[in-house]
Amino acid sequence: TSFGHFNLEENLMKVIRKSEYTQPTPIQSQAIPTALSGRDIIGIAKTGSGKTAAFVIPMITHIMDQRPLKEGEGPIALILAPTRELSQQIYQEAKKFGKAYNLQVVCCYGGGSKWEQSKALEAGAEIVVATPGRMIDLVKMKATNLQRVTYLVLDEADRMFDMGFEPQVRSICNHVRPDRQTQLYSATFKKRIEKLARDILSDPVRIVQ
Ligand code: AMP
Repeated sequence: TSFGHFNLEENLMKVIRKSEYTQPTPIQSQAIPTALSGRDIIGIAKTGSGKTAAFVIPMITHIMDQRPLKEGEGPIALILAPTRELSQQIYQEAKKFGKAYNLQVVCCYGGGSKWEQSKALEAGAEIVVATPGRMIDLVKMKATNLQRVTYLVLDEADRMFDMGFEPQVRSICNHVRPDRQTQLYSATFKKRIEKLARDILSDPVRIVQ
């Protein structure tokens, strides 16, 4: 497949060409059309597979499909990631693809200033990339809410669990509306991830790198 097969908007194609992504990676070839169709995904993929663009590109389309944006506050897309470093990488990719549409992206991670992050959220964000503990803190502080989230991604779910974030991840999933689209990415697929997948995904398409 080529990126041209996905029927993406011209602005997204421009970013893809500028990034010199000449061809979709195997995970992108499967995940992009699946996510565009609205299905849930369980993706078994590692860093380096191109998984970030695989959920970021359909995310931009998902948000644009809702313009004029629904009334209300809070993000439409929420991406959870285990570390500051990974959340910042995802943030950069989301900024890159969201720029042409003027989408507001905010990154929230433990160790960063809660005050600055809550100010950024209060200014309005369509996309939030966050580590789970910090996301919960910010919701508790009422800096944002999850009522409008319809596109939820858990990236490197196994690492989030290894770091002890399972309760926070589950709590966040329970607070996002059930009619959302959910994607779960993990490098491994052990019992706990399998159980999480059963609990939070509905009729997912399974994609293996
Ligand atoms: P990721 O697995 O999402 O962390 O991506 C790994 C690296 O591959 C990043 O530096 C991306 O910018 C790059 N990348 C993603 N998709 C493609 C593609 N289709 N062609 C070439 N490079 C890509």
